[in-house]
Amino acid sequence: MSKIISLTIKFLNTINKFIWKIIVFLAKFIKVDDINHLDAKPKNVRYRQFNVDDRPFIEPFVEHEHLDYKQLIIDNNIKPINRRLSCSSNVCCPFCNAPSDYLYFNTKKPYDFHCKVCSHSFTTRPRPSKDIILRCPHCHCQLELHHHRTDFDVYRCKNDNCPFYLNNKKSLYAHDLSLYQKHPEKMKLRYIYRHFNIDIPSLSKDYRNFIQSPIDISKAYSSQYVIGLCLTYHVNYGLSYRQTASLIKDVHEIFISYKTVENYCKAVSSIVHPLLEFFPYDLSDTIAADETYIKVAGKTAYIFFYFDAIKKIVTSYRAFDKRDSLSSIKAAYSTLIKFDSLPNSLKVISDGNPIYNVAVHYWAQHGLPFTLYQVIGLSNIDSVSKKYRSQKQIIERFNRTLKYYYRPKNGFSSLDNANSYLVLFATFNNFLRPHYSLDYNVPVVINEVAKAPNMPSKWLELIKLGYDYINIYN
Ligand SMILES: [Zn+2]
Ligand SMILES: [Zn+2]
Repeated sequence: MSKIISLTIKFLNTINKFIWKIIVFLAKFIKVDDINHLDAKPKNVRYRQFNVDDRPFIEPFVEHEHLDYKQLIIDNNIKPINRRLSCSSNVCCPFCNAPSDYLYFNTKKPYDFHCKVCSHSFTTRPRPSKDIILRCPHCHCQLELHHHRTDFDVYRCKNDNCPFYLNNKKSLYAHDLSLYQKHPEKMKLRYIYRHFNIDIPSLSKDYRNFIQSPIDISKAYSSQYVIGLCLTYHVNYGLSYRQTASLIKDVHEIFISYKTVENYCKAVSSIVHPLLEFFPYDLSDTIAADETYIKVAGKTAYIFFYFDAIKKIVTSYRAFDKRDSLSSIKAAYSTLIKFDSLPNSLKVISDGNPIYNVAVHYWAQHGLPFTLYQVIGLSNIDSVSKKYRSQKQIIERFNRTLKYYYRPKNGFSSLDNANSYLVLFATFNNFLRPHYSLDYNVPVVINEVAKAPNMPSKWLELIKLGYDYINIYN
């Protein structure tokens, strides 16, 4: 019996060696690129929906020569198209001006026409502007408007033979392919281009004007030092306006109403905002982004924080009433313009929210490209999550710090008030708050502020600097 088993094993080994020889022989005929392709795993389809595709080809739209359809009809004795159903379209041929009676069209392709009079084909697909045509960079077909959103339009290559689409389809696993066949809208296999309807001048104006002062603080009744006290208690120690007013009365024997405390804080916010925005920060190339929720007049509002994960500097901090693509684009803007020139290696680490990808698209189209790494879920199921989870945790910790300060405030009465507070909070974080991970130094050291003997005086130094930076606005 044991002899039979050993003979069988010997026989199998011989076959095995033989098979390997065939494999080695055949491998000589396969190019290295093809071998890699055999092993190449497709990208996870769930996240394909918002991948950034290449830029489309943009062609100028050329007005066509104008032939005279009436003359052509007479010369060639052309009759109107005999249709069973009358055509209600008011489209005319752009080449010869022939009316719809002379235009062939396909009910499945309502934008595409062919003129019986001059034999030209043309399309009436919507374009981002009347002067340009967008074409797929992979197959050169004209892109079609697929979705219209408030802030952007999605154009798509509908060519079934587009190499981009065919390659993506080929790389799907059998399970995903059957899912795609049932729900094609759930996967992005075709080339798409987002055309944004947001212009930079309006973004930049909005960004500069979003903090308004209720009073002129240079005409304030209280002394400068009292203003410094208000900020110290309200921002550094997280006390409400009422608590701040009581403390100043009880400890410093100065009567000041809570409304005055509020006005001082808001005024200072509008003064330090330019300092916070235009200070020449020395930023690293690793930015962590996260969004958090606060209550504004009983409703949920969203703060988008961007935070230098190494230098601990807050670069975006604004609250928005919507968590949409426009908010995400605005939040990224505030961070991107803080770089003198954008490092090639700039990384933004965020959660899996697709609106960050929209910001990547928008800024790539406007010359400020950065790479987004999305840390998804709670466990490290992919290599990006594993590599960048620690940065993600840094910004989550920062968010918890904000919540700690924000809790006694019980929400804000308006979005402006929330933003006014967030400017002060970000100023406090960047210039006044010692960080454990920076050996208890503040993220940005300014000599005049460091030399000031106490916290109210440090705030006054920041106000002075803020006045210097206000000129940049004008
Ligand atoms: Zn025509
Ligand atoms: Zn294409």
